[in-house]
Amino acid sequence: MLPNSSEVIVIGGGPAGSTVATLLAMEGRQVTVIEKDTFPRFHIGESLITETYWPFEKLGILEKLRESASPVKASVQFYSARGNASRPFYFFESNDHPSAYTWQVERSWFDQMMIENAQEKGADIHYGWNVRNVLFEGDKAVGIRAENEAGEKCEVSSQVVVDASGLNAFLSRRLGLMVKDPKLIKAALFAHYENAIRDPGVDEGATLIISTPGNKGWFWYIPLSNNRVSVGMVGDPKELFSEGKDPETILNEQIENCAEIKRRLAPSTRTTDVRVLSDFSYRSTQLAGEGWLLVGDAFGFLDPVYSSGVFLALKSGEFAADAIQEAFNKNDFSPEVLGGFQAELRKGMESFRKLIYAFYSPDFSFSTFIKEHPQHRERLTDILIGAVFKEGVDEIFENLKDFCELPSD
Ligand SMILES: Cc1cc2nc3c(=O)[nH]c(=O)nc-3n(C[C@H](O)[C@H](O)[C@H](O)COP(=O)(O)OP(=O)(O)OC[C@H]3O[C@@H](n4cnc5c(N)ncnc54)[C@H](O)[C@@H]3O)c2cc1C
Repeated sequence: MLPNSSEVIVIGGGPAGSTVATLLAMEGRQVTVIEKDTFPRFHIGESLITETYWPFEKLGILEKLRESASPVKASVQFYSARGNASRPFYFFESNDHPSAYTWQVERSWFDQMMIENAQEKGADIHYGWNVRNVLFEGDKAVGIRAENEAGEKCEVSSQVVVDASGLNAFLSRRLGLMVKDPKLIKAALFAHYENAIRDPGVDEGATLIISTPGNKGWFWYIPLSNNRVSVGMVGDPKELFSEGKDPETILNEQIENCAEIKRRLAPSTRTTDVRVLSDFSYRSTQLAGEGWLLVGDAFGFLDPVYSSGVFLALKSGEFAADAIQEAFNKNDFSPEVLGGFQAELRKGMESFRKLIYAFYSPDFSFSTFIKEHPQHRERLTDILIGAVFKEGVDEIFENLKDFCELPSD
């Protein structure tokens, strides 16, 4: 059963929930994570970006990642719709610290490792409980009601409820805070394959982003452990599903039409079902209220192209833990204190969002932009590795806006 009360309740044990729970438990806070699934479980989101290094260091899990079978990711490489490969974008060329390398992770392993780390640090973890309601007294969140598979129901009271429920975006949907991004309406079809062709040496763990003919969509190609690779295709759902074909047929046809992916997958066997996710880009208009706050995808999700999701989940978890500590220290659980990091988080997310708009602009090319504005190369690198909270990164947009349509702030 669940406890009757806890200082902090976290809904969901993905990377955002684990981060906030670990950091609060390390500070001696009483924190209860309520997760609807049992771990390990499949999750998409396998390619990390290098700025995850710093939250990993704080959480004390760098050693676990180094000792794991997760392939080391040293670069990302882009293939154009005509099949031309860019030079790999090596992170170590601009950084001689170990943080220039990161990993490609199987999320079943990674999420379990993270939540077990939270437990080791003192968080109370409960699997198999689905949070059905956040309980409010007036505007103030005062706890949750959850149900397990056997139909048992439980209420837990708390001073702070953290919604880390991922794309379920539990509170954002219930409170009507969700705003979809009409320019980023996409669907993704994806699966794992064994024995596909990988590049040798330092490129073995590279993420490949491969545009499909006519720039109608793109594939990710993410090498995983045990000779497996994660392959996914992102495109316009209206076009992909217009003929009512099943996901497996659609993905196979897309592979057949994309020479580089077809070549790499030729010797491989698919080892999972083809999964589908769609309509995943949104933001919440509010990050926090009285006694509650949103972290990770529960606050907003952009688009998978720059692999920013797990990083933003970790970072918002870190910001949230600091804000919650401040709230307890001041005995003030107002939105101003709990959501004190809203402007900073939003600004960082907006930098990614603007580069995502650029990626989807039909005639846009980063190399042309950098040729004309070489002074922005470092800022572009900063955003791609996740250094979006660094002072001055957004100066790039003063010139980028002349090359493609960008979202307004
Ligand atoms: C197609 C696609 C590809 C992606 N690729 C990448 C990538 O390569 N790299 C990257 O960094 N990111 C990627 N992402 C994004 C990444 O998956 C997410 O940003 C990341 O998982 C967010 O972590 P989170 O902790 O916020 O949410 P999640 O990881 O989704 O965790 C939420 C948890 O909450 C639990 N939960 C939900 N509702 C309830 C409830 N009511 N009660 C109890 N528990 C609940 C869920 O079971 C889950 O375990 C991708 C996303 C998509 C859609």
